Amino acid sequence: MLIVQKYGGTSLGDAEKVRMAASRVVKLHQQGHQVLVVVSAQGDTTDLLIEKAVTINRRGSAREMDAYLAAGEQMSAALMAMAIGAMGYPAVSLTGWQAGIETDGVHGNAQIQSIRCGRIRRELQQGKIVVVSGFQGVDADGDITTLGRGGSDTTAVALAAWLKADKCQIFTDVDGVYDRDPRIYRDATRFGRISYEKMLALVENGAQVLHDRSVELARSHGIAVEVLSAFTGAPGTIVGTFESL
Ligand code: ASP
Ligand code: MG
Repeated sequence: MLIVQKYGGTSLGDAEKVRMAASRVVKLHQQGHQVLVVVSAQGDTTDLLIEKAVTINRRGSAREMDAYLAAGEQMSAALMAMAIGAMGYPAVSLTGWQAGIETDGVHGNAQIQSIRCGRIRRELQQGKIVVVSGFQGVDADGDITTLGRGGSDTTAVALAAWLKADKCQIFTDVDGVYDRDPRIYRDATRFGRISYEKMLALVENGAQVLHDRSVELARSHGIAVEVLSAFTGAPGTIVGTFESL
């Protein structure tokens, strides 16, 4: 199987968590699967980068902001590849543009238009675990773009769609999708399965568990997306085509 796994910022918050994610990825590789990993920037990196940029120029150009913020995910991807390497397995990190992710030119909120999958396919065929920097791509001018806050989810779903992956898993700091934010409401209830429509409604109401475009993309390509905890690995919530859910 070809499996896409995305790890969010808190799931990669420190070296121990990076190793935890890496060992989960390695386990799949040992089982004979091809694994494509998509990573977010570690912890609060993106917020910290924004704060720092603002001290230099309150209204810096969106183009330069993208060039700067994209670095957070690139660092994460390289670290993840190093963590996998340290476990004795072959891995390669790719930036969004090395991964062939082509977007429109809307800096700060770009949309993926297509993905040239040749490089990723070659690396997978050579038996490598491929780690792609989430949240970023390249526009027709060759400039770095970012996909909007939380956009790494969209990178993962888009790659799963273009590569026709068998599975797309989004690892996060909660164990699935809830009717309300479980970090605030103790009595929130978790869905085992949820339809794209209901998921979109939750996202529109402010749920941040998935990037809105990732849900739209999953729906239009018919990709089932599993949202699960990076810390337990227990089955989470499947977002898919479910009547009456
Ligand atoms: N690092 C970016 C953000 O904080 C993208 C992501 O996490 O998906 O918004
Ligand atoms: Mg997120």
